[in-house]
Amino acid sequence: MTFADREEYIKLRDAARRFDLKELSPIASEYDERETFPFEVLKKAAALGYVGPHLPEQYGGMDDYYAKAVVYEENCRVSFGYNLSLNASDLLFANNVARHGNEEQKQRYLPPVIKGEKIGCWALTEPDAGSDALSITTTWQKDGSYYVINGRKTFITNAPIADFFIVIARRPGSSKSDGGCAFVLERGMSGLETGRPFKKLGGRCSPTGEIVLDGVKVTKDQLLGREGNGFKDMFSSLDVERAFTPLSSIGIAQACLDEAVEYAKQRRQFGKPISEFQLIQEKLAVMSAELEVARRYVYYLIELVAQGKRVSKEASIAKLFASNMVNRAARDTIQIMGGYGYMREYKVERYFRDAKLLEIGAGTSEIQKLIIAKELLK
Ligand SMILES: Cc1cc2nc3c(=O)[nH]c(=O)nc-3n(C[C@H](O)[C@H](O)[C@H](O)COP(=O)(O)OP(=O)(O)OC[C@H]3O[C@@H](n4cnc5c(N)ncnc54)[C@H](O)[C@@H]3O)c2cc1C
Repeated sequence: MTFADREEYIKLRDAARRFDLKELSPIASEYDERETFPFEVLKKAAALGYVGPHLPEQYGGMDDYYAKAVVYEENCRVSFGYNLSLNASDLLFANNVARHGNEEQKQRYLPPVIKGEKIGCWALTEPDAGSDALSITTTWQKDGSYYVINGRKTFITNAPIADFFIVIARRPGSSKSDGGCAFVLERGMSGLETGRPFKKLGGRCSPTGEIVLDGVKVTKDQLLGREGNGFKDMFSSLDVERAFTPLSSIGIAQACLDEAVEYAKQRRQFGKPISEFQLIQEKLAVMSAELEVARRYVYYLIELVAQGKRVSKEASIAKLFASNMVNRAARDTIQIMGGYGYMREYKVERYFRDAKLLEIGAGTSEIQKLIIAKELLK
């Protein structure tokens, strides 16, 4: 038994599923084609408590990681791209404000994000610093009582549409995890510019882009956490964020399995439904087995997160396995659907493109293997 088997979360799952089928499913493919974010769905979701349920109650959340997990998985079953942007706002951005921000920052930034009125993003990656996150060259320097930030961030989810930005920078001359600072910046601040959304393979209704920081000058009100502690804070939050990512794989894989089973029962070749061919059954069976194993492990992982346990190894195991699993599931679903699966008219083509990001974003599969090995060998 995990949280997912409790009646309140079964009911929440049913409600979130109904919402997604009504509000998100009819527009998911169109927004993917148009490469624009469905703001109106976010607002409706927020009104039902589906944005930031894990965030503290006093700012509009429900202090409920399990609710976040249930809504996250159901969203990804319908539109991975929508959830990618929602999650960058209510987990990557808002969770960091909730964990490391002061009272004023929490009051200023959390309620509008939870209400779906404002969108946040979290910016670490740079053109020359991806997996090697500590090699970032965006800098902060003191100028009297001000901080001046210079640098460039790339591949940032929501950068083109965000109102609020968390930007990670380092003190010039500092190295490794020393000298880091996280700043909360706002659109309109002098020196902060964002580029046009990148053209992407998948997650296309989630705008991704660059942030240019050219002498952005802020007071300590915009400093998140303690000066110099930015990287340590970041790593302490990253485990939680990485623990949720495999739910994207679970959601997309469930959508694939649903499509594959339905199609296999309907499609007839050689005088019978293709579901009667054992080579097709093998694909369905393996897909289902791998999905259930991943799902149960991820629910266990979310329970550890909710208990405040350290989950570095477990989060990496879940992310590695689940992201490989969903890529196999999407590939096999297309195979089961033959030429139809390859056509853009069918949703599985979108699932196949979306799944690839899960082996890259929030730490590549290679990096997850290194983390697991490091934990084993220490
Ligand atoms: C759609 C999208 C959204 C994103 N959103 C955000 C966001 O909101 N915020 C943010 O900060 N970042 C974001 N990212 C960035 C993402 O986290 C990075 O792309 C990812 O960490 C990999 O970095 P990289 O792309 O620079 O690849 P690189 O680090 O250059 O890696 C290239 C290849 O080398 C491999 N490699 C690297 N180091 C090693 C090693 N030591 N051993 C073995 N192999 C290695 C990698 O696994 C990979 O296969 C996003 C990326 C994408 C594509």
